[in-house]
Amino acid sequence: HYYLNGIAAQQHLNAFIEVYKEEALQRAAMLDAALPGQQSLQPLYGVVIGIKDVISYQDHGLTAASGILRNFVSLYNATAVQRLLDAGAIIIGRQNCDEFAMGSANENSAYGIVRNAADPERVPGGSSGGSAVAVQGNMCMLSLGSDTGGSVRQPADFCGIIGLKPSYGRVSRYGLIAYASSFDQIGIFGLHLNDVALALEVIAGEDAFDSTVSTAPVPAYSEQLQTQPEKPYRIAYFKQALEHPGLDPAIKEQTEAFIETLTAAGHLVQAVDFDLLDYVVPAYYVLTTAEASSNLSRYDGVKYGYRSPVATDDLTDFYKQNRSEGFGAEVKRRIMLGTFVLSSGYYDAYFTKAQQVRRLLTQKTTAIFGEFDAIISPTVPAPAFKIGEKSDPIEIFLADIYTVFANLTGIPGISLPLFTHPSGMPFGIQVMTSQMNEVTLLSLSKTFM
Ligand code: GLN
Repeated sequence: HYYLNGIAAQQHLNAFIEVYKEEALQRAAMLDAALPGQQSLQPLYGVVIGIKDVISYQDHGLTAASGILRNFVSLYNATAVQRLLDAGAIIIGRQNCDEFAMGSANENSAYGIVRNAADPERVPGGSSGGSAVAVQGNMCMLSLGSDTGGSVRQPADFCGIIGLKPSYGRVSRYGLIAYASSFDQIGIFGLHLNDVALALEVIAGEDAFDSTVSTAPVPAYSEQLQTQPEKPYRIAYFKQALEHPGLDPAIKEQTEAFIETLTAAGHLVQAVDFDLLDYVVPAYYVLTTAEASSNLSRYDGVKYGYRSPVATDDLTDFYKQNRSEGFGAEVKRRIMLGTFVLSSGYYDAYFTKAQQVRRLLTQKTTAIFGEFDAIISPTVPAPAFKIGEKSDPIEIFLADIYTVFANLTGIPGISLPLFTHPSGMPFGIQVMTSQMNEVTLLSLSKTFM
């Protein structure tokens, strides 16, 4: 009831596309009734969780906030959802987001914009904006989002909460609508590190339905968080990241001051030369749009999805009409860009080059983690902006500069809500560790919070 009241009182924020009110109440009552006989409680017993509308929940709507899937209903549970349910969680609803998880402000949804609870005139970030606002505004205890290039960490930064993107392959993508399959990961929003660690423990691990999931055993993240002794860490930051011209001066100043407090606390903190920084955003947008153009080819209006009412005998026209009317502008822009970079005349100039950049980044990352436990940076170069203020796609893409690195290299990243900007908006620090090293990521984060 607490969270349902939160949702009812904040409908103007538009965080949810659909709320499963009766069902959630029934499940809560059922869990309550079962309580007296329980020997030990399941790890997420009664925990109220919202899911981004790109994650399948059987017999519930699933649209990726797109017109093309308006009436689609999930046929099965995503592995992450199945594990939440098995752990006793209550799923309270599906959350608004940018269409097919493409965007940074939650202004690209067929279900309307989402507003930041800290200032409803500002964007919540994206693409998992609804999931972030739902936690920020106490409409659920945890949310599941998806992070292809920052879509969990960036809205967490804008909303003043924690946002974790696990390593690529830590959490099964089965039942997650694909945007760019070699980048996508399900991530977690929460207010407390312990909650996030516990949820990760529940959803992570081997899955026969996703061959890219790691078979490495899942550590007891939440327990490790309790026992890990504080120790000095070796922490790197990228020189070029803090010198970047797009970085807001107040964020720069507070991040530098934070780095000094870390040194004072006994950690070894060092600037590392990172001359590839300017290439991460172009490489990300070439590779993700290429993967998206292929992944989204399945929405043709035949098997499922929106079908245009305009009659035609020509199959190509039929596809064109369904897709032109069903997809929004940003998604179309990316399908076209992705098709272009994959086209025979341009493949080597763009796609192959971007793959080379990705490989160089991975090599560089491996070298850095040979010497350091973690890399820190601002999560986003500027705080949440006003709704409608930014319309130039290139400008919006460039703001992904600190987050896309983790997806290009497959490493885990977390945004921690540590600071307030002079505008009054919160902003965060991002921590990244080597691949599959969520234990260090979480314990280091704990020393920061
Ligand atoms: N802003 C990035 C993009 O639009 C991030 C998206 C995401 O992580 N899903 O692609």
